[in-house]
Amino acid sequence: MTLMQELDASDSAKIGREMHAFASELYPICRSITGDGIRETLARIGQRIPLRLTDVPTGTQVFDWTVPKEWNIRDAYIKNSVGQRIVDFKVSNLHVMNYSAPIHQSMPLRELRAHLFSVPETPDWIPYRTSYYREDWGFCLAHRRLMELRDDDAVYEVCVDSTLEDGCLTYGECYVPGRSPEEVLISAHACHPSLANDNLSGVTVAAALARMLAKRDLRYSYRFLFIPGTIGAIAWLANNREKTHRIRHGLVLTCVGDSAGFHYKKSRRGDAEIDRAMAEVFRHIGEPSQILEFSPNGYDERQYCSPGFNLPVGCLMRSVWGTFPEYHTSADNLDFIRPEKLAGSLRVCAAVIDVLEGNRRYCNLNPFCEPQLGRRNLYASGPGSEEAISARLWVLNQSDGEHSLLDIAQRSGLSFPVLLEAAELLRQNGLLSLLQGNDIASM
Ligand code: ZN
Repeated sequence: MTLMQELDASDSAKIGREMHAFASELYPICRSITGDGIRETLARIGQRIPLRLTDVPTGTQVFDWTVPKEWNIRDAYIKNSVGQRIVDFKVSNLHVMNYSAPIHQSMPLRELRAHLFSVPETPDWIPYRTSYYREDWGFCLAHRRLMELRDDDAVYEVCVDSTLEDGCLTYGECYVPGRSPEEVLISAHACHPSLANDNLSGVTVAAALARMLAKRDLRYSYRFLFIPGTIGAIAWLANNREKTHRIRHGLVLTCVGDSAGFHYKKSRRGDAEIDRAMAEVFRHIGEPSQILEFSPNGYDERQYCSPGFNLPVGCLMRSVWGTFPEYHTSADNLDFIRPEKLAGSLRVCAAVIDVLEGNRRYCNLNPFCEPQLGRRNLYASGPGSEEAISARLWVLNQSDGEHSLLDIAQRSGLSFPVLLEAAELLRQNGLLSLLQGNDIASM
């Protein structure tokens, strides 16, 4: 049974609701690239799938970067002259600029303004801002709220009850062993605070996928990374530099919960098997989809696809980062991600893994003219038989040892699952052999 068959036989509405419920559980936590928020998040992921945590101490050099001080926050607010909290971290963790240094003092509005951030175009939404690598402090608020503050001489009490101290950066890995030590890397960033699509959608889909894979007999081994964006990927690559040659395919998962169609950004190589596999899945998935060329901006594929590594890692999204109005604002909330869209994204991941797991080359054992399929009961008519017979003929014709099933899918226009089923049937009937040597499990 393929992963797709397993999903299609199960209650996808329930799976979607479970993923959304997990996102809801994680949503209130104030995450950052270091600190208790991401550790709490990893602990909760670890209740669902086996997770190995790695701590990288503050000051550790990872390639050209240095692991920063650890940031933790308890409270933050701006109080007016009568002691009311007009901006309150406890209402939304987006209100404080992530990584704000501690401060507690009173100042007039004219001085405070340089530390206030809003988005005039969407005046009811709180923007999300960070200051990881430059010590600063700030507050983010709805533009409408900012406009209510008029008197530049009014004095406000400003408090950020945070700490920036030596500590560590923590990331989590879930390793699902397969028959081969060669790996498929699935990476999701888990460092954004209360943001749902950009952060939690990738985390929840990756966790659900890891859970599904853990129950199966797999060709590849799978490594799921739950990491702080950029610095986490860089730290992981620095710690695992000698092992990256094992990565045969990889996928960054982000923004996979909103209602848009799918986008897949190709790896830097542009013609990696994962790039071709995703294009094949998109052709048959039944949802709008688009393939994007590689670019050196985006998420952690930037690190995996840096020229020194040049790993075959693409990025699966629905809405593309930075292009939707809710991006990096309080509107990227639990209503913005939908259970059925999370389930649909899990389905695409399942489909692409089915392709990677099943993509092999076969050898036609009867290559001189077509074998007589009727005599072997492989030419029966009936519902769906036309496509099945066509798939058998394509697989027989193209299985000269040169062409993989993915090649045959591209050339024939038939879907990968139909061709895989045909190939396995022909193999069981002694008409094909699996080519030795291209199955890494046999090496
Ligand atoms: Zn982001």
